[in-house]
Amino acid sequence: MYRCRACDRTYEEDVDAPWRCGCGHPLDFDRSLLPDGDPPESADRDRGLWSFDEFLPVDRRVTLGEGWTPLVDAPEWNCEFKLEYCFPTGSFKDRGAATTLSHAVSLGVDRVVEDSSGNAGAAIATYAARAGLGAEIYVPADAKPAKIRPIERAGATVRRIEGGRQAVTVTIRRRQVRSRPPVACPHPSLLATSPA
Ligand SMILES: [Zn+2]
Repeated sequence: MYRCRACDRTYEEDVDAPWRCGCGHPLDFDRSLLPDGDPPESADRDRGLWSFDEFLPVDRRVTLGEGWTPLVDAPEWNCEFKLEYCFPTGSFKDRGAATTLSHAVSLGVDRVVEDSSGNAGAAIATYAARAGLGAEIYVPADAKPAKIRPIERAGATVRRIEGGRQAVTVTIRRRQVRSRPPVACPHPSLLATSPA
């Protein structure tokens, strides 16, 4: 079940669910993300992000071994750096892509759409390919080729939109409303993250 925290309306978790509440607010999963009981004493590094699946609202269905990026000491700065570029597509967006595509597969959709000017698009495209789903990624027409190539290499369809980043968002929302089904939009699981 999805729930709107603004007006408390609920929606079934299925392919016909809207991408946002009728009142316009984002939807959340209607269940606690905090497991019962004591925290685990240790985590299984081999499972990466999914070591924390008790905190995630979706089952692992799509994975490329994401998560558990290394921490390295930087004593001159009195800190540690977490090397997020070690993710499969080179950015932390893989956490959200893994959970979003896992949820999309559980819903039974056959393609996903997303608007992104870079890393998120590459992550969604790559994880969609892993899941065997089609993907359309809407990007600003002036996006850098270096940002577009990973999306194209993953086999996604790139839709170039004139007018800047906001125009991309407006366009995808308009087309998404017209084309349902079968499309999954960025869902609450895209926001699901963990420290792994
Ligand atoms: Zn609402």
